Order: sequence, then structure tokens, then C-alpha cells
Amino acid sequence: MERLQKVMAQAGVASRRQCEELIQKGLVKVNGQVVQTLGVKVNPKRDVIEVKGKKLQQEKKRTFLFYKPLRVITSMNDPQGRKVVADYFRHISERVYPVGRLDYDTEGLLLVTNDGELANHLIHPRYEMDKVYKVTVQGRPSKEALAQLREGVMLEDGQTAPAKVKILEGNDKKSVLEIVIHEGRNRQVRRMCEVIGHPVIHLIRTRLAFLTLKGLKKGQSRELTSGEIQRLK
Ligand code: URA
Repeated sequence: MERLQKVMAQAGVASRRQCEELIQKGLVKVNGQVVQTLGVKVNPKRDVIEVKGKKLQQEKKRTFLFYKPLRVITSMNDPQGRKVVADYFRHISERVYPVGRLDYDTEGLLLVTNDGELANHLIHPRYEMDKVYKVTVQGRPSKEALAQLREGVMLEDGQTAPAKVKILEGNDKKSVLEIVIHEGRNRQVRRMCEVIGHPVIHLIRTRLAFLTLKGLKKGQSRELTSGEIQRLK
């Protein structure tokens, strides 16, 4: 069971807020009855929902793998008018949104979907999906510093879980690391590298579970196959 306004928004009627207004104005019926209070829950598969007399069709579920470029906000809109992920999906009629987030100054692999169940599943901490980052840092981290990253470092919001860390190349000025984590805290990789004294210069997410950026240029996306979606679940 899900909230009526959420089901309406997922079916592409309008934003959740606008759907709430439609409900309050008495323009929405569930199984033939006008529903004007917020918080009513419905079963999107069974209940018949009508908006302004028109039956709601559930949107087709679509999931994309997107190569987010640098300087793009992981959101649907930005009050300051900067480029957002949604700008790359304007040609799609379904209301897709990003799963998790990448920083404005991080590039790489991001999933974009209108499948709420899949999104919730993927961001749940219990779902330990590999998140692989190629990280360019200042200087060359010592063996001890790398060991610290692997074991977990203390951040303001607590100790990080063990990570896999490899040094791919490096000199005294900068080094490239591969870091694999399962958590998804805000600016986590940047903060982890900051703690060991090697601030991040460049950050790209190269892999999520078994999905890679292969074949995609920055700003491009491709729809996942049903086989890939099954594997993610
Ligand atoms: N870690 C970060 O610090 N930034 C990201 O965008 C993703 C992971």
C-alpha cells in the first residue's frame, strides 16, 4: 500500500505536492469515491484511481544507467538554475529520478529510474552493492594511510566500514586510487581521503555492482535490460 499522492506522482500526473492539491480540491476518486484527505493509502495494482474523471494508467517502469558529467546537480531542479540530472531526461515522458547521489564535482555512474521499489531496494544499507571509485588524490598515501582507509576511518558521522583500496598509479604530487565501498554517506570518499591527509582532486564512480560506464560518453545514458534489472534485485 502506498500513499495516494505518491502513486499519482509515479504515474506521471504531476509532482507530489501538485497531486496533494488535486486531492484536496476533490478531483481524485479511488474506487468511485472522492478522496479529499491526505494520507490515504492505496494499492496501485488493485485500486481504481481517477483524476478529473480519467483513469490513471501506471507508468511503464524505466531504469537508466547515466554517465553524470562534472558540474551537474543530482536532482530534478535547482533553484539557482544550474544543470541538473533531469535536464538529460527531458525527452522521456516518465518521471524518472536519480538513485542516491553524486556530488556536483563528481562524475560517473548514476542510476536514474521511476521504479520506486527498485530505488528503495538499492539505497537500503542492507543491500551491499559495490560502489567503485577512481580517486585522484594529492600526494602519495603511505602504506599506513592506505591501511587506515581499508580498516575504516573516523568521520563526524561515525566510523566507516572496511573498504577495498588499491593504488593504481602515483608520484609525490598525486596518486590514483581505486576505492570500493558499500556505504553511501554524504561526500564519503572525499572525507575519507581528507582524514588520511590526501585531499581529492578528481572523483569518478566507475562501477555500481556489475554495471560499468562501458560504451557511454559523459552525459549519455542507456536503458538497463530486464536481465540487468533482475540481477540488481
Ligand atoms: N563520495 C564522495 O565523496 N562523493 C561522491 O559524489 C560519491 C562518493
